[in-house]
Amino acid sequence: MSKPFIKNHQYNVIKKQTEFIQNTLRNVADRSVLSTVRYSALTNIVEAFPDLTEDQQQMLEQISAFETAYDFQRYLGELESYLESYPPITPINKKGYCLFCNRHHELAFFLVKTKPAIPSPDNYAAIGQYVCMDNQVCNQSITVTGSLEKFILSVRK
Ligand SMILES: [Zn+2]
Repeated sequence: MSKPFIKNHQYNVIKKQTEFIQNTLRNVADRSVLSTVRYSALTNIVEAFPDLTEDQQQMLEQISAFETAYDFQRYLGELESYLESYPPITPINKKGYCLFCNRHHELAFFLVKTKPAIPSPDNYAAIGQYVCMDNQVCNQSITVTGSLEKFILSVRK
């Protein structure tokens, strides 16, 4: 069984970097430029993951060996099974700024339960936030993770 370890914004980083490599493959013949681009793309990807296991890192490193659009496509497809699921949201029929992507949009309410160090039935805290109704579009807009990361950190505390 594959264990999800890729968050949506990290998947977007991977997608962006694969596009970057493919563009270079199409337009640049110089092999040394290519290997520089592959290297920096991989660095950008790995940097988006604060704690990778060795297996996970190896999986991501495959990106530096691909040549064809088919290779990249198949790879991105495989990674999708490692995507963490998006938390459940409730529509509120109101427009406002989304916490994650910062666009002004139809909002939904999104509730996260945080687990305290010593769990007990009435010891749960919940944090509510407003995010885009359309999480498909929202996910595509998240590549800058500042506010998202701050939020995740505040939940983990
Ligand atoms: Zn959004």
